[in-house]
Amino acid sequence: MSSIFTKIINGEIPSYKVAENENFYAFLDINPNAKGHTLVVPKKEVNKLFDLEESLYNELMSFSRQIGLAIEKCIPCNRVGMAVIGLEVPHVHVHLIPLKKMEDIQFKKKEKLEPEEFEAIAKKIAENL
Ligand code: 5GP
Repeated sequence: MSSIFTKIINGEIPSYKVAENENFYAFLDINPNAKGHTLVVPKKEVNKLFDLEESLYNELMSFSRQIGLAIEKCIPCNRVGMAVIGLEVPHVHVHLIPLKKMEDIQFKKKEKLEPEEFEAIAKKIAENL
């Protein structure tokens, strides 16, 4: 069965898309730690980060860097943090999280956003790529 992220990539489940290329899809996390929390996912469905073939792993880091730089340009924060967890969704994804303080990387306190705000944030990050 396809992962929830494969369904998002295929457009079967809606998402607030930030960017896409041949191998990767970036979109806003639906339950964000902070405004601008973005997930970067390889289209190839692989469970664990270090099981990616090395070239795809390197491309994922490079693509994530581009998105992270765009987030830094338009979302007020001290820096963009990066985490790979995958305990909830077994399809590799990089979390890019705008950080103001250490707690923002802890996946405890969540932001509640309206659809219009998600849309505006995704658009702003995309425009800064
Ligand atoms: P992890 O697998 O890294 O522990 O967490 C998975 C992340 O995916 C969580 O931050 C969760 O909010 C996010 N997530 C789970 N399902 C969806 C979804 O359907 N849409 C979006 N945009 N994010 C999701």
